[in-house]
Amino acid sequence: MAAELIDGKLLAQEMKAELKEQVSKLRDKGIIPGLGVILVGDNPASKSYVTSKEKACEKIGIFSDDTRLPEDVSEEDLLRHVERMNSDDNIHGILVQLPLPKHIDENRIINAINPHKDVDGFHPVSVGKMILGQDTFLPCTPHGCLKLLERYDVKTEGAEVVVIGRSNIVGKPVANLLMRKDKPGNSTVTVCHTRTRKEDLLAHTKNADIIIVASGFPNTLTSDMVKEDVVVIDVGINRVVDSSRERGYRLIGDADFESLKDKVRKITPVPGGVGPMTITMLLFNTVKSAQNTIK
Ligand code: NAD
Repeated sequence: MAAELIDGKLLAQEMKAELKEQVSKLRDKGIIPGLGVILVGDNPASKSYVTSKEKACEKIGIFSDDTRLPEDVSEEDLLRHVERMNSDDNIHGILVQLPLPKHIDENRIINAINPHKDVDGFHPVSVGKMILGQDTFLPCTPHGCLKLLERYDVKTEGAEVVVIGRSNIVGKPVANLLMRKDKPGNSTVTVCHTRTRKEDLLAHTKNADIIIVASGFPNTLTSDMVKEDVVVIDVGINRVVDSSRERGYRLIGDADFESLKDKVRKITPVPGGVGPMTITMLLFNTVKSAQNTIK
């Protein structure tokens, strides 16, 4: 039987309509939510993410302060831009698009962001609070995954969840969120990574009720690795050459959608699954930060 598609585009549209209303209420009170965006260099993928994020802001009435810096910008200069945004009351959220060039210490930049404006949820204060179950900005992609599970009635309580990937921005936080005593949450979580033995990966995925794939490689999860009623959340975004497309490439995930879609219970497509939710959760955090200023 064909799987039910978990439509991130649709949920993102619904959430953005709600957020637009909240922005309009803030504007009535004289508060224009502002997002400070810093992009270093001209990595095409980063540029396209930043453009999509800024367009999404504009559509719901969030003002974005766009700072583009050359690839060879010094760490000190970049820090000065972060500091400027930290002290600007019109900026409620700060987004430094990652990855940064190799000569810049990414941790130093993330740590310099005021946690009250950390709408990406990468600051150690935000990460600590997330793990402890305290109110904070949740990281956008993992939070988006949770929203998709919730909206599509996927029961997480007691579920065997396998996360493939242990990065700081996806694997680790999504695993932590799903093991929290919360809703969604209360799952039994297993995290697999490059050092997981291949036979163990297979044993874990075969036993999973929910699999979150965030490996960075296409076809990390294939249909022979899963049981039939599993739910698959594919976080991956990979560009593959496609000469039939005007732009010369198409996007695919980290899971083999074509083989999985006829076997599993529910699955996110790529594009149109987790991607739109990441941007929406960034807007969500920016609106939340603006609302925090009147609490
Ligand atoms: P990363 O490279 O930082 O981490 C990948 C992780 O996967 C590593 O921990 C590695 O140990 C693990 N891994 C790699 N191959 C594996 C394998 N064969 N078996 C088990 N574990 C394996 O990547 P990331 O930043 O976490 O991103 C993961 C994917 O998600 C990428 O495709 C990225 O483009 C995508 N992404 C999408 C969004 C979105 O909005 N949809 C946001 C962030 C990242």
